Amino acid sequence: MDKSYVFYNGEIVEEEKVSVSIRSRVVNYGLGVFEGIRAYWSDEDQELYGFKLIEHYKRFLQSAKVVNLKIDYTAEELADFTIELLRKNGYKQTTYIRPIAYKDTKTVGVSIEGHEDDVVAIYLQPMGKYMEQEEFRVKVSSWVRIADNMLPPRTKATAGYLNSALASLEAKRAGYDEAVLLNRNGYVCEGPGENIFIYKKGKLITPPASDDILEGITRDVVMQLAREELGIECVEKSIARTELYNADEVFFSGTAMEVAPVVEVDGIKVADGKSGEVCMKLKELFADITHGRNEKYKDSLRPVYGK
Ligand code: PMP
Repeated sequence: MDKSYVFYNGEIVEEEKVSVSIRSRVVNYGLGVFEGIRAYWSDEDQELYGFKLIEHYKRFLQSAKVVNLKIDYTAEELADFTIELLRKNGYKQTTYIRPIAYKDTKTVGVSIEGHEDDVVAIYLQPMGKYMEQEEFRVKVSSWVRIADNMLPPRTKATAGYLNSALASLEAKRAGYDEAVLLNRNGYVCEGPGENIFIYKKGKLITPPASDDILEGITRDVVMQLAREELGIECVEKSIARTELYNADEVFFSGTAMEVAPVVEVDGIKVADGKSGEVCMKLKELFADITHGRNEKYKDSLRPVYGK
């Protein structure tokens, strides 16, 4: 296998030169924040496009601010490093980009004070589809979604993903494809790594930021596409569990998952149990814009090889 390179505290280095100690606070307490970004390979253009890099890095910086991690770079600089890293690795395939910042302090103790051992790194993972399935059968989790005054989902904190992982594990053990988490108030929140939408009576509905969701970048794009390309009204409002059962369509959105139909919730078919029409149109529109096939959205893409 060819060498892979990562970004580590300002430099691009061979991945094998980087390691994390078992003493590190990020290993022991999950004291870190991360992002998930995609770069899309276009066969037509023979180009790799970083998608919404600035939006992701702005969210990364905001996450870091909340948990007192110091990142000495702007969103623009982090985007530039990412392009450089993608070039250095030379990938000509759709790739997942994982920026991560963490406390690498090696003394025992749970503090997030001080910045001496803060690390900022980026690694890459070629990734086509995130999961095997084309359509998802989901289970409402018995695990409750963490809240903003517990472990804020908005921060995309490493530790918070144990909540996601427990929900996914429970769903998969019960024979479902994925979980849906409710928040403390019993309202629909999101999937373990994706936002959720329902389509009902001609309107697209998704939970508001105040319902303890991660404000997804794909979620924003989906709402923009629905409004501007399909002329569909979008509403951000709390969704009750039974609204999932009675929706005309349910679907997920997320960087890894992209746009994916949910056809069954807790063993109950959503409408006729087939992928929804609106979801599939949005999925296609999303694929077009991420692969550079729609001029109107070209400014959300940053070419890596820059022809
Ligand atoms: N919710 C959670 C919990 C997530 O981890 C993600 C993935 N980042 C999303 C929603 C979707 O966000 P985005 O569209 O920005 O990837």
